Amino acid sequence: MSGPLEFYGAQTDVRLVHVFAKGRKSRRIANDPGRTPRENASWLASDALELKLGHTAVRSFHSVALISPRMVFWHHCRGRPALRILGRQSVTIPVIPTMSKTLSLAHLSIEPGQRTRGLVPVEVKGQTVQLPVFLINGIRPGPRLVVTAGIHGAEYPCVEAAIRLGRSIDPEALSGQLIIVPSANPVAFRARSIYVTPPDGLNLNRQFPGDPEGSFTQVWADWLFRNVITVGDMYIDMHGGDMIEALIPFVAITLTGNPAVNETAERMARAYGIRAFLAKEGVGPIGGTTTGSAAVSNVPALLTEAGGQGVWHESEVDILQDGVRRVMTEFDMYAGIDDPGEEAERLGGWDWLRADVDGLFYPSVAIGDEVERGQRVGEIKDIFGETLRTYDAPVGGEVLFLVTSLAMNAGDPLMSIAWK
Ligand SMILES: [Zn+2]
Repeated sequence: MSGPLEFYGAQTDVRLVHVFAKGRKSRRIANDPGRTPRENASWLASDALELKLGHTAVRSFHSVALISPRMVFWHHCRGRPALRILGRQSVTIPVIPTMSKTLSLAHLSIEPGQRTRGLVPVEVKGQTVQLPVFLINGIRPGPRLVVTAGIHGAEYPCVEAAIRLGRSIDPEALSGQLIIVPSANPVAFRARSIYVTPPDGLNLNRQFPGDPEGSFTQVWADWLFRNVITVGDMYIDMHGGDMIEALIPFVAITLTGNPAVNETAERMARAYGIRAFLAKEGVGPIGGTTTGSAAVSNVPALLTEAGGQGVWHESEVDILQDGVRRVMTEFDMYAGIDDPGEEAERLGGWDWLRADVDGLFYPSVAIGDEVERGQRVGEIKDIFGETLRTYDAPVGGEVLFLVTSLAMNAGDPLMSIAWK
């Protein structure tokens, strides 16, 4: 590799791509100010990369300078920094970063080597939501990772894990940038609300990418999606069982039609250090989630879950924050931690059982239990103790999460069973 290398480290904009082909003059293939960054990104992914950077052609290029939030990853290629270009043709090309960038979110803005934190006020339907944000701008260039917690207001270990990450990651030791939101649904957090967000009673994690003209939760989802969730190269959304749920720790990704995004998401999942790993084909029946919607927008995204039942324990906080550190290590952003955690085991899929009647729920299994297809897993009784419904396992597998409240409402989840 020789000659000038230009890195327009514009992790927020698509600006310019120079391709330095061997034996040829450098060639500018994309710099259309008439396009939005998103349009430029999809144009590059679909046409330019196919035509100009297809496998054959790419071998004759010796460097590329670049690019966009969703197309580039720092990587090491035979020990050297490299760019990974995400498109239908996914290739890795050695390149040397030459500049880092300011990291900004709303009024917060820092230079490489700095950190800051603050509340970002956002007007939503006449209310001011104060969003807590940590920004950490690495001294060296690298990917931008976005981490959120508390999308559901009563899931606590993830919130504590995010606070600790925000306070402890050292910008002097970081390659890349980190945006951490420890409470992404502050209204629901204050209300200690289960599943839903006051004032409209919607589940925030079914509303993405949101609707700027919709109700409170939909407007909030739209703001978060545009200003936080999709502004990085990778996204991790930390959850846990809600106040009425127990679960065994698991990680999950949504597979889309973009193999490069799928591949990065799977690397994130396998690096995290949690055994139970679900890879969902497409968004499926549970739509509108943070990570599913991010994946559809070509942001590699990982859902992680630990803890529940309205409490938080050090062990669960550690599972979640260690996982984020392991992902940063996997992508050469931060020094590793000694313990690699559990080895990921990809599960075949999961089924959710739901209540079809109001009443009192009596599960006959516990989280982590292996059940056989047809096995009785619980029943719902009325307030006089008469059985209204019984529930049998629709598949054999492992009980991943379980609702633990006695009170049960028709339509609510009862448990999920994951099969191998
Ligand atoms: Zn959740």
